Amino acid sequence: MKKTIRDIDVSGKRVFVRVDYNVPMNAELKIVDDTRITATLPTIKYLIEHNARVILCSHLGRPNGQVDPKLSLRPVLARLSKLLDRPVSFAEDILDKSTIEMVDKMHDGDVLMLENIRFYKEEDENDEKFAKYLAGLADIFVLEAFATAHRKHASTYGVAKLLPSAVGFLVEQELLIFDKVLNSPDHPFVAILGGAKVADKLPVIENLLDKVDTILIGGGMAYTFIKAIGGNVGISIVDNTKIELASEILDKAKEKGVKIILPIDNVGAKEFCEDAEAKLFNSGFFADDYQGMDIGPKTIKTFKKVIKKAKTIVWNGPLGVYEYEKFKKGTNKIAKYVAKSKAISVIGGGDSVAAIQSLGVAKKVTHLSTGGGASLMLLQGKKLPCVEVIDDV
Ligand code: AMP
Repeated sequence: MKKTIRDIDVSGKRVFVRVDYNVPMNAELKIVDDTRITATLPTIKYLIEHNARVILCSHLGRPNGQVDPKLSLRPVLARLSKLLDRPVSFAEDILDKSTIEMVDKMHDGDVLMLENIRFYKEEDENDEKFAKYLAGLADIFVLEAFATAHRKHASTYGVAKLLPSAVGFLVEQELLIFDKVLNSPDHPFVAILGGAKVADKLPVIENLLDKVDTILIGGGMAYTFIKAIGGNVGISIVDNTKIELASEILDKAKEKGVKIILPIDNVGAKEFCEDAEAKLFNSGFFADDYQGMDIGPKTIKTFKKVIKKAKTIVWNGPLGVYEYEKFKKGTNKIAKYVAKSKAISVIGGGDSVAAIQSLGVAKKVTHLSTGGGASLMLLQGKKLPCVEVIDDV
């Protein structure tokens, strides 16, 4: 088990907290959704109450090592200060000596935010000298950025290696829930997988074969499997380099007694666009000039029955091209069934999380992961490098 902030004495210490404030903003640079900020408040408040000097560090967008005023963290600073109901100071140029002076002047319980760490190219490069400089600003490192825990950057992996370290409450919660579902799940355990990137999802299936009872497959990835069993998928998205592996996975699942359920019917279209004419096809029987855009009604019904009986559900990836109104039915229906279920439900991946949120049923789900890439890595059975480097209890 990794150390959490409860396991260390933070009083009077300078605590470097790597958060993920990569919030969506509109053209007027107004924050559209502040979930990523509110999610870190328990950790920040705990540190303030325990007399730490809190130094917050985050990235925003992809400025590629250049200062970009549109990607300044100033709007986040204002929102955080409001949410905390206290002033938060701002270090505009992290490498300037004014930042060191600001840190030196901090009192116990003060909060300071650093400007966008990705304004420095050394961040993504995990530059050792840069990490050393950042570590020099603090006594303790706290990882609270689950969404970036799968990447070795200077302000995540680099600093954690140099300072006594712990995870914050948000990262702790993510690790506990993934540990529960992956290592001691209640059965029946059902995984729902969709999305388009077959190469990302096949390792998830391989890892889950020893843990789950049923895997429901939808979305673009389903067509690689349907082709693997000899079906005609028309012009549906297929990863031809993965057909053999898909076929091997189906065989392995049979050996292990895991049910993999592929779509039975699909909503197809000739063009990949919002107003394309939709036509229903049985799986494996597409017209040559049509592609699969969503799961069909028979599939939805079958998936519903399985979801209803589940005690543990993990869901990653939309079941169709849910960005288009006409092809979002499958994803939305499944989101509703998952929300309705009494199972422990864990949803990872930006698209499936967005689907749940757009339906206003997020509170009914046990856990919405804050990290798409990081949660996928855990589902693949891999370790998160930035978590691995944190001290153990
Ligand atoms: P992923 O990042 O692998 O989870 O993929 C998410 C993307 O998969 C979304 O943008 C969906 O529009 C896309 N997607 C889902 N179903 C299909 C499909 N049948 N054909 C093409 N793309 C799809």
